[in-house]
Amino acid sequence: MIIVMKPHASQSSIDNVVELVKSSGLTPHLSQGEEVTIIGIVGDKSKLSNRNLEIAPEVDKIVQVTESYKLTNKKFHPYPSVIPVGKTEIGPYNLTIMAGPCAIESEAQLLTIAHAVKKAGATILRGGAYKPRTSPYSFQGLEEEGLRYMKKAKEETGLATICEVISEESLEAAVKYVDMVQIGARNMQNFQLLREVGRSGLPVLLKRGMAATIDEWLNAAEYIMAEGNHNIVLCERGIRTYETATRNTLDISAVPVLKAKTHLPVIVDPSHATGVRAYVKPLSKCAIAAGADGLMVEVHNNPACALSDGPQSLTCEQFEDLCQELASYAQLERRTFR
Ligand code: PEP
Ligand code: MN
Repeated sequence: MIIVMKPHASQSSIDNVVELVKSSGLTPHLSQGEEVTIIGIVGDKSKLSNRNLEIAPEVDKIVQVTESYKLTNKKFHPYPSVIPVGKTEIGPYNLTIMAGPCAIESEAQLLTIAHAVKKAGATILRGGAYKPRTSPYSFQGLEEEGLRYMKKAKEETGLATICEVISEESLEAAVKYVDMVQIGARNMQNFQLLREVGRSGLPVLLKRGMAATIDEWLNAAEYIMAEGNHNIVLCERGIRTYETATRNTLDISAVPVLKAKTHLPVIVDPSHATGVRAYVKPLSKCAIAAGADGLMVEVHNNPACALSDGPQSLTCEQFEDLCQELASYAQLERRTFR
């Protein structure tokens, strides 16, 4: 449930409600806007039955949140969240571009790409060190060695960094080297892993499961938030449909739907959504127009020889061209970029 305070309620009235909630053994979650303060509560509401919150000073109303996800719910937190990652921020004021190779293949490969994407306008370097591949015989990633190259790339370029984690062991390693962790589509409902990243303290990029509904996705985010980690960004990366012309089908409507349901930032990954590099640019434009807070784009210095996802990877030059063209789209949406 949420307790909505009257506009411009005094701090002492807010403190009074917070205290009533705490003394009932529940945790209040405050969302303070310029006018209205909302206090969200998750858990056994019967503990508040004799507290008469409705008539506490400056309480406007009490609203029940019927959705199963609460902390991620926009009703709990009506203002868009801004997620700090390294020196940058993901949120409504800028357009965040995460770019880099699908898989980290060598130090030289990663550094070349890191410098190129930085120059073009990316602020976060992506690169997989633990690759959840469809086939067990495909390249599985450099693991901790790859993470060390990520750290080096960060030191050289100043870019923030993100790597996917697939297990407790990879998470333990990642926290030593990168600024943000990614939960991939295949692990979106790995609830134990969600809890662990929730306790890691690092910001999390949660990709949508291949066949996950938006409700299931928001509940997965709730698992992370329930552990006290509120720094979550959602990533639409296409869903499985009957269409085979593209690798997945980009659910562009997920962007405005999420904006209506949650305060968390939303980014779009047109690379995995299509599997085809030629479609990355049109869908990037589309994502920005739909209200996305950023993009995740795969870039490779030599896609023909990439160990993973070459066909959907842009060359460094194509990425530069993409960013140049996206600058005016970002401006149209009043987002800072480059
Ligand atoms: C990736 O980002 O490299 C990846 C494996 O993506 P997804 O989990 O969306 O398939
Ligand atoms: Mn990939």
